[in-house]
Amino acid sequence: MLGIFFNGLERSRGSVGAIANHAYKAWKPHLPEIGEFASSLLNSSAALDATQLCVGGTLETMVIVTKTDATAEQIGTVVKRIEAAGLKAQISTGEQHTVIGVIGDKSLLGDIPIESMSGVERTMPITAPFKLASRQFREEPTIVAVNGTKFGGKQLPVIAGPCAVESTEQIVTIAKLVKNAGASFIRGGAFKPRTGPYSFQGYGKSALKMLKAAKEETGLSIVTEVMTPHEVELVGEWTDVFQLGTRNMTNFYLLREIGRAQKPVILKRGMASTIEEWLLAAEYILAEGNPDVILCERGIRTFETHTRNTLDLNAVPVVHELSHLPIIVDPSHGTGIRSLVSDMTKASVASGADGLLLEVHHDPDHSMTGDGAQSLFPDQFTQLMQELKPIAIAVGREI
Ligand code: PEP
Ligand code: MN
Repeated sequence: MLGIFFNGLERSRGSVGAIANHAYKAWKPHLPEIGEFASSLLNSSAALDATQLCVGGTLETMVIVTKTDATAEQIGTVVKRIEAAGLKAQISTGEQHTVIGVIGDKSLLGDIPIESMSGVERTMPITAPFKLASRQFREEPTIVAVNGTKFGGKQLPVIAGPCAVESTEQIVTIAKLVKNAGASFIRGGAFKPRTGPYSFQGYGKSALKMLKAAKEETGLSIVTEVMTPHEVELVGEWTDVFQLGTRNMTNFYLLREIGRAQKPVILKRGMASTIEEWLLAAEYILAEGNPDVILCERGIRTFETHTRNTLDLNAVPVVHELSHLPIIVDPSHGTGIRSLVSDMTKASVASGADGLLLEVHHDPDHSMTGDGAQSLFPDQFTQLMQELKPIAIAVGREI
């Protein structure tokens, strides 16, 4: 019966919140056994979710801040005590302190005197709904490094390329052009999430090989989208960074699988998602142990119809306030109109973006997706890269 209940929780989390709250009060003393039982039915993170749901959102996660001179052994001892109590521990190593995030019901720690354990400086609650993604968990910005290029520091990495990979010749030609203009990544979809089933869906695995050819020719790192959990392994063999697209931001199974993949991911904002929902999506990836999440603002749906989307540049400083994760901006999908892309790219840099994602095509009129209309010509891209330099310097960055 419990099994059915937990399965129910997985499927209809919103509607059972109130029942779960009552159930939680009665079951609280038995949570470790319930968690274990749920574990055998689902998997460990789903069980953790179910356990968290029982508290109906009142779950208090905390961080343990260790002393600057805490040893690895002392930190290891604290982590073991937390895990033995049935909670999950996530470590974040900062310049000054190592912090341990404790995920789960804090009351399970019972009488364990965490604050007086060797190496521990203090504990504090994380009040934000997202925990590992929050500034409370980690004060310093997270730097995501990919083959020597860093997101989240002084550098402003640029990812450029067509919407879809259409042929080896196409992707190699564009890769050479964007590399000469100063990009560090070639992008292009092999698996395309198209709104209609009859539209070009991408060349799949053969397109991954074409991207590899472009990488070999130019030395650029690859960014390409992964759409389903079962393709994470395949795409991960070819790409340097996963892209998780706007239509998949709430695909929680995909988020979890990428969380287990140990490879950086660009997590695009859902086109109808709030910043909080977006950070909660990032939390799914972080909670599985992958710390290398790069957020990407790509425009949201609003009542405005002139542009394809409304590029929400508020999101850049908001994310910087709420989270330590880097945030890049995609003005191509954010506007949908070529003539607007350069201005909005400049605005993105001025707003504090940690990088850029831009669609560039040498022959956009023959693009196989509808995104030719928002793709820059290579000459425009080259000019834009030059024009961005003084703006980057003005906000303390380098491009
Ligand atoms: C893309 O980058 O080509 C793409 C499909 O992006 P989004 O998921 O933002 O629509
Ligand atoms: Mn596109």
